[in-house]
Amino acid sequence: MNNCPFCKIAAGELPAAIVHRSPDVIAFRDIHPQAPTHILIVPIKHLVSVDDVQAEDVQLMGRLIATAKDIARDLGLRGYRLVINTGREAGQSVFHLHVHLLSGRALHWPPG
Ligand code: AMP
Ligand code: ZN
Repeated sequence: MNNCPFCKIAAGELPAAIVHRSPDVIAFRDIHPQAPTHILIVPIKHLVSVDDVQAEDVQLMGRLIATAKDIARDLGLRGYRLVINTGREAGQSVFHLHVHLLSGRALHWPPG
């Protein structure tokens, strides 16, 4: 997708601290971390948000969660939170679907 930062990272056109890459999923460290561990898990396919998910993407969505779990295990995280901001009102600022993996500090509930 033109001018999408996460498509550019997936294509190797924008640098990122990549922690995982598979044919359909990439994960890299958030450039403005909100916790000691803050990783974004991103489908290579450009989906705008959860609102854009179709039946054909259901398996891919599962892979995002499974990838987050694998990264958490590999990094030895003892507890973590997965977040998908959907829509500007919910705090989405990059319109290429991504899962935030947050860990390494106390995470409050309800979130802000
Ligand atoms: P959201 O606000 O849920 O859309 O999350 C977007 C996240 O992407 C924010 O936490 C940003 O800090 C992060 N971000 C934006 N551009 C980059 C980039 N080039 N590399 C890594 N993380 C980024
Ligand atoms: Zn994109």
